[in-house]
Amino acid sequence: MTMASDLPHPRVPGEAARLPITMLNPDFPFSYDHYLAHPAGLGRVPDLKLGTEVAVVGAGLSGVIAAYELLRLGLKPIVYEAARIGGRLKTAEFSAAPGVVADLGGMRFPESGKAFYHYVDTVGLETREFPNPLSAVTPSTLIELEGTAHYAETADDLPPFFTEVAEAWRRALREEVDFDAVQEALRSRDVATIKRIWNRIVAELDEQTFYGFIAGSAAFREKSFAHREAFGQVGFGTGGWDTDFSNSILEILRVVFTDADDKHRRILGGAQRLPDGLWSHAPDDLVHWPKGTSVAGLNGGVPRGAVASIKRGEGGGIRITEKWGATREFEAAIVTCQSWLLSARIDTEETLFAPEMWTAIERSHYMQSSKTFVMVDRPFWNDIDPATGRHVLSMTLTDRLPRATYLLDDGPDKPAVILLSYTWNDDALKFLSLSADERTDLMLHSLKKIYPTVDIASHIVGEPITVSWEADPNFMGAFKNNLPGHYRYQERLFGHFVQHELPAAQRGVFLAGDDISFTAGWAEGAVTTALNAVWGTVRHLGGESAPGNPGPGDVWDELAPVVLD
Ligand code: FAD
Repeated sequence: MTMASDLPHPRVPGEAARLPITMLNPDFPFSYDHYLAHPAGLGRVPDLKLGTEVAVVGAGLSGVIAAYELLRLGLKPIVYEAARIGGRLKTAEFSAAPGVVADLGGMRFPESGKAFYHYVDTVGLETREFPNPLSAVTPSTLIELEGTAHYAETADDLPPFFTEVAEAWRRALREEVDFDAVQEALRSRDVATIKRIWNRIVAELDEQTFYGFIAGSAAFREKSFAHREAFGQVGFGTGGWDTDFSNSILEILRVVFTDADDKHRRILGGAQRLPDGLWSHAPDDLVHWPKGTSVAGLNGGVPRGAVASIKRGEGGGIRITEKWGATREFEAAIVTCQSWLLSARIDTEETLFAPEMWTAIERSHYMQSSKTFVMVDRPFWNDIDPATGRHVLSMTLTDRLPRATYLLDDGPDKPAVILLSYTWNDDALKFLSLSADERTDLMLHSLKKIYPTVDIASHIVGEPITVSWEADPNFMGAFKNNLPGHYRYQERLFGHFVQHELPAAQRGVFLAGDDISFTAGWAEGAVTTALNAVWGTVRHLGGESAPGNPGPGDVWDELAPVVLD
């Protein structure tokens, strides 16, 4: 998918409203999409360093992108992976029908994530709009709260109460945090204005929860408790947000400012096609390596195994030891697994990071998340109930156990998929100890209360697929979400790739991935932190950015996230 904003836009007064929003992170408003699209490329390493091996720990999206860009720069990424390429972009196939898939992690990708879509285009993947609540491709949405169901084909079909809730949220954003001004600055990539407003918001709201922000806003104070409650249960855009209520409001503002909660697309065939595709993709513009070389080719077709320890090596580099004992020393290592794993699962030498970095790593707060999918014989939800004139089943938001049920199909007369339930935190923990069948039974029981005349179970074919990310030792959680007061930790983790002022003993390991980014839970952050780590690695090896295309570390002094006292 090619985006209209792939090239820099002139800043003409009054034009800003027409420009698209990008996930230009307000903490560090660097245009990664322009950086990637620049014909000069990302930089070069000294000739003597061409072919140098660099370790990449983790073959999720961040690791695969880091490896892909190292390859393009003429370096040799050696990729380590404990499980399967793709990480949290994991797509499972229903065993009875290969090709019918379930995205267990990331599944809907905002159009504003331009760096992510740069790689979707690189691999040539097809995308389609994701059927979120009330979106144009969602035939109908049903909101069921406290036993009362509201059926809607468009937002206008909902009772005025829901319009009031949505309007209160928009008003709270406008009145409390200058929403329109921030979005206009994001559209025109006016980094000075973005930073001026955002740095003030960070200082004022770092210690505020999402719920505290809602409850304290004039817009919601003038409404009833039921408005706040419905906002939490239904949200707007992607579904209910109340399991995020205890998180820092800054986490939510980054999402809504950058339209990350809007205009979502899914990857046809499953999200995992992106990391899989990049793993075996041979770039056209290679340095040093012969035409046709891919990351897979440099790694003999498979990644190395799980990393058991990361230490300072005898040669002064970074020594990586695998679970089964193989050891190799590298001049640099890019580490992309969830950062808790650096202390909980990997024996990491303490002196590689400053004590305050370890504090930041340990304070990471991960969301739990579970999903349960079933395959059905056909997208029967498009059938119309003659008694009501409505679709027999709708995309459903409910305060019952499943919370959100999504309907996914690739056309009539083919097997389709129901994501019976997608939950976070407390709602996800309710299922942690249950099997896939037990979860499915519970979801069907709840849905039967909402749709008493529909026999969903009779359409199910084969076995359900379920996941609880917190139960997987290679992840230990779904994705990070900072708590109030955590900004300082995030700022340390994000900025660690700029290492030239660090003591020598703390250089050479570059952290990247979802939880190093300011937008954890969105693949765009995995992409952009991989690019930071690649920039850091190039600099570490004595290289530099391409002329005319400064990298993220080159503009650090101008754009760096605000440092709180
Ligand atoms: P990972 O994918 O976690 O990659 C790290 C890799 O390290 C893993 O493959 C892991 O196996 C490996 N590893 C762990 N330990 C070791 C070891 N000792 N040695 C070697 N390798 C190791 N994003 C969106 O944009 N849209 C969404 O809709 C969305 N929804 C999501 C829903 C869920 C439930 C989850 C979990 C995530 C979602 N995300 C979404 C976020 C997105 O999936 C992530 O941002 C992205 O996949 C993270 O990639 P990563 O490479 O940073 O980390």
